[in-house]
Amino acid sequence: MTTLRTAAQLCEHGLVPPERRHATEKVAARYAVALPAALAELIDSSDRDDPLARQFVPDVAELDHRPEELVDPIGDDTHSPVEGIVHRYPDRVLLKLTHVCAVYCRFCFRREMVGPGKPAGLSSAALAAALEYIRSQPQIWEVILTGGDPLILSPRRLRAVMKSLADIDHVKVIRIHTRMPVADPARVTGDLVRAIKVKAKPTYVAVHVNHPRELTAPARAACARLADAGIPLLSQTVLLAGVNDVPDVMRELMRALVECRIKPYYLHHGDLAPGTSHLRTDIATGQDLMRELRGRVSGLCQPTYVLDIPGGHGKSPIGPGYVARHGSDGAQVVVEDFNGVRHLYQAR
Ligand code: SF4
Repeated sequence: MTTLRTAAQLCEHGLVPPERRHATEKVAARYAVALPAALAELIDSSDRDDPLARQFVPDVAELDHRPEELVDPIGDDTHSPVEGIVHRYPDRVLLKLTHVCAVYCRFCFRREMVGPGKPAGLSSAALAAALEYIRSQPQIWEVILTGGDPLILSPRRLRAVMKSLADIDHVKVIRIHTRMPVADPARVTGDLVRAIKVKAKPTYVAVHVNHPRELTAPARAACARLADAGIPLLSQTVLLAGVNDVPDVMRELMRALVECRIKPYYLHHGDLAPGTSHLRTDIATGQDLMRELRGRVSGLCQPTYVLDIPGGHGKSPIGPGYVARHGSDGAQVVVEDFNGVRHLYQAR
């Protein structure tokens, strides 16, 4: 499959008008570009505001860096005891195997770490040291493979990593975060699915999807291959201005995920990644969307709206609250229903 990687290729495919080619070259020189042809074909090039173009086609606004934006917005580096490991919470670690992705998202929170020109991934020695760290920390219950996109690795390499993790007694769960079913569904082959499914240790896959149009027939088939193999699927969605920040789109996306047997997991507030202010919303927008979801769609379709607190302080739920104390003794609370009507409840 051809992947578009340069401003010239984006122009040739009508995704960037000729007058924006020079500005696009400047953005591409700063941040990685990769757009698989099949994903590019989903973009309506006549619509300057196409939600898929906003996610994948470089925009000159990316050169607008704001003072509050951070090279490492969620503070991975401050919690990295050895190369490739982020140990932020006691019972789980991230294991970052690669800095390569099939598609480079314009809002990526690791955009300063991923793409060509950055170290491609862990060397054998660094991987051995990362696994040794996990072995040495008995409180680690879950290992989360992330990147880059771990599913860019060959089934052979993934199988070896999964086996090493599964052999560690105290590691009970392995989770993989990926955009591959959307970015390049053909890579989610039977061989790859077999490689990530290890005996005796459950593997969860969290699929990154931001717009219902990303769930094409091939993407749905890729998710079905994972689900049919008994791999539980979760979703991660980033709240993005002009992409999914209106109720109709968010509702359709959450329902489509559940129809694909993917349980909506996190709705991330946009991180303070450099050059992404044009894609961030305010928190009130996210809370209003969550209220809309709560009132209108099944409980299965409800993600948790979270903010990764800048500086490495972890995720906090920031969705709307439905319960408030009533009176000073804490005996009663006021609970709001999905229509916004408040009810008094005797709490004790
Ligand atoms: S696939 Fe994930 S890591 Fe890669 S560019 Fe997109 S958001 Fe970033």
